[in-house]
Amino acid sequence: MNASPVIVWLRQDLRLHDNPALHAAHQSGAPILPVYILDDINAGPWKMGGASRVWLHHSLNALNQSLGGHLYLARGDAAALLPALVQKTGARGVYWNRCYEPWRIARDKNIKAALEQDGIETHSFNGALLWEPWDVKKADGSPYKVFTPYFRKGCMNARPPRQPLPAPKKITFAALTGASLDDLALLPTTPRWDTGMVKHWAIGEKGAQQRLKDFLEDGLQGYKEGRNVPDQTNVSRLSPHLHFGEISPNTAWYAANAYGVAHHLERDMDCFLSELGWREFSYSLLYHTPTIVWDNLNTRFNDFPWTDRETKDVNAWQRGLTGYPIVDAGMRELWQTGYMHNRVRMVVGSFLVKHMLTHWRQGEMWFWDTLFDADLANNAASWQWIAGCGADAAPYFRIFNPIVQGEKFDPAGAYVRRYIPEIAALPDKYIHKPWEAPPLMLEEAGIRLGKTYPEPLIDHAKARARALEAFQNTK
Ligand code: FAD
Repeated sequence: MNASPVIVWLRQDLRLHDNPALHAAHQSGAPILPVYILDDINAGPWKMGGASRVWLHHSLNALNQSLGGHLYLARGDAAALLPALVQKTGARGVYWNRCYEPWRIARDKNIKAALEQDGIETHSFNGALLWEPWDVKKADGSPYKVFTPYFRKGCMNARPPRQPLPAPKKITFAALTGASLDDLALLPTTPRWDTGMVKHWAIGEKGAQQRLKDFLEDGLQGYKEGRNVPDQTNVSRLSPHLHFGEISPNTAWYAANAYGVAHHLERDMDCFLSELGWREFSYSLLYHTPTIVWDNLNTRFNDFPWTDRETKDVNAWQRGLTGYPIVDAGMRELWQTGYMHNRVRMVVGSFLVKHMLTHWRQGEMWFWDTLFDADLANNAASWQWIAGCGADAAPYFRIFNPIVQGEKFDPAGAYVRRYIPEIAALPDKYIHKPWEAPPLMLEEAGIRLGKTYPEPLIDHAKARARALEAFQNTK
């Protein structure tokens, strides 16, 4: 055994199974020092939001337990801390799985160059994506801008994704004491808004594996249609686990494939795999066009009369007080659980950008702070998509009607009633449009519009006409 250790620098790969960097470090035979550095310095404006920090706290705790308490923690500038740690431990190499956020790419390039200059081996791997963004390009070498050819032609016709790797059997650790988890100060102090939120999740690698298993057994059948119904259990809710790398997309891909084929659920399976494909597409967009985090991909929207600040109405949207039940239920689901169903994300996104003529960046930033699965690639690409200025975007003139969306995808109002108890006693007919209910019915249901539940922030027909006019004027 070589006594000189190697460092495994963990970032968004907080797992032991299918972790290519950990696997390779283990195969090197050297003692391993697993390291996590909370780097708010290089992240700049994209340092983790409040909800992400809470998730990270619990995820690191779970990972540390799986590593027998050997996870070395630090906080600060990774570009300074990592070389210093190499020197202190006499490590001969550093292993990591690649990240794709522009700030991380820039930082990691510098770290790699500095370490190699000092004669330290660096080994980087793909542990986060099914296909590397630079491997999937059109015949002319340019990146895809449309999802279907990207996925069907670019990805599916290329090499199949890498098969998952097993967890290392027995790891020999290099012992070194770093900061404590509490030193990272990831949890809020007062008020403790996080305690209710985390109860909805089993954070960590084991929780992620269980979630995947439960989804395959209870959710995959009927996923294609059921994934649009927010009150149904068809979606996987794997997104925060995937974001923090508690499970790899490869594990989800091959497990869904095997289960789908064995149970003749090919239609549902294909649909689920293509959603994993959307995640790949977002990363491809971010990699090839890093400006998507702030700037409209379609520059025609640069003159669009969006308001780009946090107004009183934006505050009402954030708190789930727009007067449109499906919008408010979604925003409250987010607040209470750190998650929002995809169908409802689209409805609340469209409402903010089109009904309220607010810049998508305001929504992107709110989601960044409040989602457990806040992910630079998926969040930016999805907000641009819903705003109409993104890649392969929903056309701007397709404006979601929040009443029709509610009636179609939450017909019995179960989702709305769960998050807006103050209108729960309304009959189904009015649950998505309380303002149309007769006064006596409102009274019987204990609702005083404008007092116990808001009047609609804006009339749908007026908002729609205003949005379309703004769009016509920018053409
Ligand atoms: P499932 O339906 O079970 O899908 C499985 C996985 O596929 C997801 O976990 C996710 O990794 C991926 N996926 C599914 N739909 C999409 C999609 N449309 N785009 C990219 N990947 C997808 N997703 C995030 O992970 N982080 C975000 O910050 C984020 N912000 C969003 C903002 C808006 C305005 C919208 C409309 C969507 C956003 N999404 C984001 C995409 C999508 O809503 C979530 O990935 C999905 O709801 C997660 O739930 P799930 O794991 O149950 O999904």
